[in-house]
Amino acid sequence: MKNAPLRTARFTSRPRTYASAHAGPLRSSIADRVTVAEVLKIAGWSAPNRRGFLLCPLHTERTPSFHVVADRGWRCFGCGKGGGIFDLVVALGLARDRAAAAKWLERVAQ
Ligand SMILES: [Zn+2]
Repeated sequence: MKNAPLRTARFTSRPRTYASAHAGPLRSSIADRVTVAEVLKIAGWSAPNRRGFLLCPLHTERTPSFHVVADRGWRCFGCGKGGGIFDLVVALGLARDRAAAAKWLERVAQ
């Protein structure tokens, strides 16, 4: 039990302002705060049209078949790829896996 007092001391010494300074433990995941359209914008792609379609960034095409679903999902009817926010970051080649995608989003998105 030699370490117990140290652990307690470390815990209680955490500043009370920690939660507010870091938006608190209830801060939602980055995947809930960023939309597919925002990721596309950050990555330099065009915005979806009014129907939620744009030219697919993942394959060459002349008519838009990349569809944004409910802000945070996507599916391309041309190449068949689809998924969520992290899958999009990986598919665009901006991160090697979903964990890296989360870190990338935390860095580039507000
Ligand atoms: Zn596609």
